[in-house]
Amino acid sequence: SDIGSQKERVVTEEEWLQRWEMGNIGFHKEQRHPLLQKYLDVLLNGRSGLRIFFPLCGKAVEMKWLADMGHSVIGVEVSEQAVKDFFSEHSLPYCEEPVPEISGAKMFQSTSGNISLYCCSIYDLSSSIVGKFDGVWDRGALVAVNPRDRQRYASLMINLVEKSSSYLLVTVSYDPNKHKGPPFYVPESEVKNLFG
Ligand code: SAH
Repeated sequence: SDIGSQKERVVTEEEWLQRWEMGNIGFHKEQRHPLLQKYLDVLLNGRSGLRIFFPLCGKAVEMKWLADMGHSVIGVEVSEQAVKDFFSEHSLPYCEEPVPEISGAKMFQSTSGNISLYCCSIYDLSSSIVGKFDGVWDRGALVAVNPRDRQRYASLMINLVEKSSSYLLVTVSYDPNKHKGPPFYVPESEVKNLFG
């Protein structure tokens, strides 16, 4: 296929944790993503008080921005350091509790209650645990998923959203033989196959 050698590449959870530990997080941006600002109306579609999901959230600053607009933000991230950094960098008090349905998982919630970040693998989530979402901001998420897990990821995401939801997806385009990823190259044709 046109994704070449990237198809076989696997980045383990341990490698992600190490990246956070080493501060090797070039994917994190201090400024809000220009495409979220541009397409915010598409995401919200005139609605207020939405439940917005950030898969593979890192410490994305847009979570605070959307929460400040009155939406509920739910994220999932394997790195506890990322989650704690998010709350401390925005001076947000939070509490931490176990997630009874997922062994070893913790949920970190802002004291104000409108930001809930699950610290576990996204593949541990299901709609019976986290409910369904009205909107998704997928930046650095599908493109960070190991290529062999994309189908599983997409099926899960489809399961986690309401029928009336909007899903904003950011991918990157480049020659996959020149960089091993992540971010992985996800061609438009593959997005169509995965999400229909
Ligand atoms: N979306 C964020 C972070 C992108 S980097 C942003 O835009 O800044 C991808 C993130 O996914 C990393 O923080 C990594 O620790 C996390 N991650 C990788 N695999 C994961 C998994 N299976 N479940 C949850 N988080 C994961």
